[in-house]
Amino acid sequence: MSDPREITRILFENFQPQAIYLFYAFGYAAIAVFLYGVYTQIRKYRRGQPDPSWGGLWSRFVDMAKTMLTHRTLKRRDRAAGSAHGMIFFGFVLLFIGTSTITLEYDILKPLTGVTFWYGNFYLWFSLVLDLAGLGVVAGLIYMMYRRKWLKLPKLDYTRPDRQPGDPDFDRSGYRREDWAFLWSFILIGITGFILEAARLVWLSDRPTVWDYRMWSPVGATLAHAMQGLGLTPEGASAMRGALWWFHGLLALTFIACIPYTKIKHIFTASASLMFRDPLAGRRLPKVPEEQESAGFKQITDLTWKQLLHLDACTKCGRCHEACPANAVGAPLSPRDVILSLREFANKALNAKELPEAAELDIHGKGVGQVFMETLWSCRTCLACVEICPVAVEHVPIIVQMRRKLVEDGDMEPILQKTLQNIHKSGNSFGESKRKRAAWTKELPFEIKDARKEPVDMVWFVGDYASFDPRNQKVSQAFARMLHNAGMDFGLLFEGEMNAGNDVRRVGEEGLYELLASSNIGTLQSCDFKTIVTTDPHSYNTIRNEYPDFGGQFEIQHYTSVVKQMIEDGRLKLKKKLDYRVTFHDPCHLGRYNKGFDAPREVLKMLGCELVEMGRNRDNSFCCGAGGGRIWIPDPVGVEKPSQNRMKEAGAIEGLQVFVVSCPKDLTMFEDALKTSGFEGKFVVRELIELIDECIEYEVWEEAGSEAA
Ligand code: SF4
Ligand code: SF4
Repeated sequence: MSDPREITRILFENFQPQAIYLFYAFGYAAIAVFLYGVYTQIRKYRRGQPDPSWGGLWSRFVDMAKTMLTHRTLKRRDRAAGSAHGMIFFGFVLLFIGTSTITLEYDILKPLTGVTFWYGNFYLWFSLVLDLAGLGVVAGLIYMMYRRKWLKLPKLDYTRPDRQPGDPDFDRSGYRREDWAFLWSFILIGITGFILEAARLVWLSDRPTVWDYRMWSPVGATLAHAMQGLGLTPEGASAMRGALWWFHGLLALTFIACIPYTKIKHIFTASASLMFRDPLAGRRLPKVPEEQESAGFKQITDLTWKQLLHLDACTKCGRCHEACPANAVGAPLSPRDVILSLREFANKALNAKELPEAAELDIHGKGVGQVFMETLWSCRTCLACVEICPVAVEHVPIIVQMRRKLVEDGDMEPILQKTLQNIHKSGNSFGESKRKRAAWTKELPFEIKDARKEPVDMVWFVGDYASFDPRNQKVSQAFARMLHNAGMDFGLLFEGEMNAGNDVRRVGEEGLYELLASSNIGTLQSCDFKTIVTTDPHSYNTIRNEYPDFGGQFEIQHYTSVVKQMIEDGRLKLKKKLDYRVTFHDPCHLGRYNKGFDAPREVLKMLGCELVEMGRNRDNSFCCGAGGGRIWIPDPVGVEKPSQNRMKEAGAIEGLQVFVVSCPKDLTMFEDALKTSGFEGKFVVRELIELIDECIEYEVWEEAGSEAA
């Protein structure tokens, strides 16, 4: 039986003292270069604006740790890549811990206290775990290479939709080279580590405390046997080990030194980005600070430190690029490219010792790293990018902040400017008189209470489209009948209601938004009610998530939850079951923004419909194209619209009868797209309210109707 202390890994055996000193000198130099890089990164972030994300550090840390340990965000919609990344990540962490353990024992504990522990059983298990960790890293890296080289996934194509061939920035080939350099250097470290281990085993094959325990390093031992089979002698292995040791060691030290300057830094920036994520990013946009003279982002230094950090966290995985509806229909926008442009700009402008002149900090324009106006106006603020980003990059708040600057400078389509003027003048995007807001109620055989004049249980915030658009007015009338017949005590704000401001804010017109929000909050606060209901997911979002920042704390529900409850309570009786084959489109502001995925589906089930999901559903729903004020800006002629793209997806469902929506803007967008994409007559677009209306038991309605008559 060998002495357990003899069962250990040799470190510098056969090394001249000068060689050991030289290695330590390289090690300290690598750490110095690394630390300088960290310093410049932190200096860069400190050049950004303050951000209120410091609260709850411990719970932020726990959330980040859970996300990283489960690899939850990385596995979403790309399980293979997430699993491969998991092998690299956990392998790297184990190898890092292992190397640190050796340093702890060899460089600190042993010389200072004489304590050693790196031998015997501990060493053998250590050896096995690190061997398998290394194998995981190499296997994960091989998959990543395979994916890049052979799968040729569109999301990994860095060609930009906002630049033309010939533009030096068009295909971002530098990023491709960086990716490959990263993969090759990392895998070389792993592979040379295994060969080094094998050479050591062959070299010491006559030493029982090494050779007899070789299978605790299974990969190294397998390679050692193969090398022996190829004729490698202990002498040859010794020479080979000397050369490889330096190659492997210097490569590893170079890798460490490069971390803050290359893609490798995402090890830290992605973790920090996850830790400082805002769960309401995009759902609740930031207010303009009172002391700030102009709204929005003009210069790179207008971004907060957290946003500068997000730019560095992006790993170019392309998930946002793939999910973006604007990009899908060929608009000059890729959320990934916006982030990468700003990152390039930040690195150029903010890594310098002295800040450049103000003019050189302007992020709007056509130069390298600047973002085009057309790019910013292409965004639908649908949140698909924010929702899928595995490292919590928050694109939408940056895009909207940049739009605020465009709006302030008047850099927008004339038609959008006109709509904003209409809203300013009349409180609605249709430019109609305020008094006409509730004109649709006149056709009802009962009166709806004025919540400003008498107490009600429920205020119905109708929204512009449901109030003024003739097609949507029919839906509003159906919902009014439904509430009335269910005996709900509800009322409207009539001309006291203004556009809720959700889309005005996402356009970037913050001043107008504040006027609208203050007006609605004042009106609501003067009423006596318990809860708000709305059929408009856009109004729902801003009242729920943004009005509290302006002093308006209200309980609000989307109608799908209210109706579900009314059916469950028996207040709404279903007269018949529908046997339609339907699909459901999740509105961005109800689904992705506010997680309202289940209620509409449960209602469809209660109605008896057969629900067939489209491929892109729930949090991966595909925007109709109306968000972010884009409903007020015509799409280019002759180019596919997001709504038409969605119709094609629905049209592929065999026997589809009804395309169900639960948002007034969706009804408008998709009824139009149904005609223009050639599916008219094949299936119909219907508001969920209309399907419910078909099934309702109108007992109370008849009674009320006869009273009214
Ligand atoms: S919010 Fe939607 S449209 Fe805008 S960049 Fe993100 S994915 Fe694209
Ligand atoms: S922003 Fe996020 S989702 Fe988009 S490419 Fe970067 S890491 Fe991927």
